[in-house]
Amino acid sequence: MLYQSTRSSERAADTAAVLRGIAPDGGLYVDPMLGERPFDWQGCLRLSPLGMAEKILGHLLPGYADMGALVERAYAGKFETEELTPLVKVGEDYVLELFRGPTSAFKDVALSMLPQLVTAARRQEGVEDKIVILTATSGDTGKAALEGFHDVDGTGILVFFPADGVSPVQKAQMVTQSGANVKVCAVRGNFDDCQSGVKQAFAAIDRSGVLAGKGRRLSSANSINIGRLAPQVVYYFIAYAELVRRGAIAEGERVDYVVPTGNFGDILAGYFARLMGLPVGRLVCASNANRVLTDFLTTGVYDKRRAFLKTSSPSMDILISSNLERLLFLATGGDTERVAGWMRELAEMGVYRVDEQTLDAIRAVFSAGCCDEEQSRETIGRTWREDRYLCDPHTAVALHVAREYKRARGAGTPLVVLSTASPYKFPAAVLRAVGGDLSGDEFEQMETLERLSGVPIPKGLRGLKERPVLHEDVIDREEILDYVLRQIDEL
Ligand SMILES: *Cc1c(COP(=O)(O)O)cnc(C)c1O
Repeated sequence: MLYQSTRSSERAADTAAVLRGIAPDGGLYVDPMLGERPFDWQGCLRLSPLGMAEKILGHLLPGYADMGALVERAYAGKFETEELTPLVKVGEDYVLELFRGPTSAFKDVALSMLPQLVTAARRQEGVEDKIVILTATSGDTGKAALEGFHDVDGTGILVFFPADGVSPVQKAQMVTQSGANVKVCAVRGNFDDCQSGVKQAFAAIDRSGVLAGKGRRLSSANSINIGRLAPQVVYYFIAYAELVRRGAIAEGERVDYVVPTGNFGDILAGYFARLMGLPVGRLVCASNANRVLTDFLTTGVYDKRRAFLKTSSPSMDILISSNLERLLFLATGGDTERVAGWMRELAEMGVYRVDEQTLDAIRAVFSAGCCDEEQSRETIGRTWREDRYLCDPHTAVALHVAREYKRARGAGTPLVVLSTASPYKFPAAVLRAVGGDLSGDEFEQMETLERLSGVPIPKGLRGLKERPVLHEDVIDREEILDYVLRQIDEL
């Protein structure tokens, strides 16, 4: 049993960890031996992107019988390019475009793979129940999960989104979703209402055991699942291999990565790549105005007692970065008692402080920086004017932090900046920053942006307005539980 909870000695095989998501003690599953188990990272660099995915996922999740077939089913022909995540030179540095999947969201990388991992785990573990994914979304996760799970045998998916909390484009993406095993429903209120309603429904169903004998069990698609984290390790290798291939670095040279961060999953995947031997230099954690992580990585105090700021990079508007718990476990050499203690303090008091030694261990690899709204706008504008590269507000946060980081670090190896969203997902913010015409609705703004930049609108976003609406339900948050129980048999 390779995986262990961050909060106790509770262990699980990889397939069981994927089915469970979270450990029974509330902790997250980690492989404490990842840095010790040998991995042929150099051999990996010579493979195709799908070949790399098979090797890397096979190493992280060795209990799976046929990873090659799962990877093929998840990715082949689904992304815009065969590189999966293309590397684009912007100025002196490189942008790794993670948004070339079927829903133009970075979440596609993980959520294309997760359904394959869930169904294979279900087969291998001899689970007969259908696995029903229940998700509250602030936008991108919901659509990427729908796209990943629709019509996948043995699974169903129910997505709730806040009626007042997603953009018109994101809403259109979700309510036009086809598939026999999907259901999408709006919840009156904001994302917090929607998320807490779903959490309560989850807990109530668990407690009451109403699903017993119904042939259904619930699971979630959020990034605490190791099956969502593992696929993200792959693109760190893809980017590195591409830099070597282009002669930008020599094999073995260290490369720094700058990562726009919310829940700390993306950047933690980079740390996993480093533990597997990839010459990752520093991992630079880029936050927007919600700078909890910048403060933590600077002072060792994690303090969520602050105002939640709504920014133009909503996927990074987060005050509790769940995956940080995994880093704390690894940085303390697997001290579950200490980690559980900090998590208790966070839950009860909203704050904890790590000791010097732990902070030093983390800071030996991680740097941090943040970017406010004005700086983000300025970065989108400047990157377009100077480099003719159009970036979204999330990527802008990382580009701004990359610039400041380089100023402090000095010249050196090129940086890889991870780009997590297509500019077409945020047409108004991007048009405003580049001085474009803001008239019309979001769909018209997309077209304005296309004319202005010459960059084509991604296939999945084009013609969205004309597609038939298949999901029209709107409910109050108190009705979520009933809704789930009513729909679950039909999924
Ligand atoms: C989810 C998301 C992020 C944050 O990634 P984490 O793994 O949560 O740190 C950043 N940008 C976009 C566009 C996202 O969707």
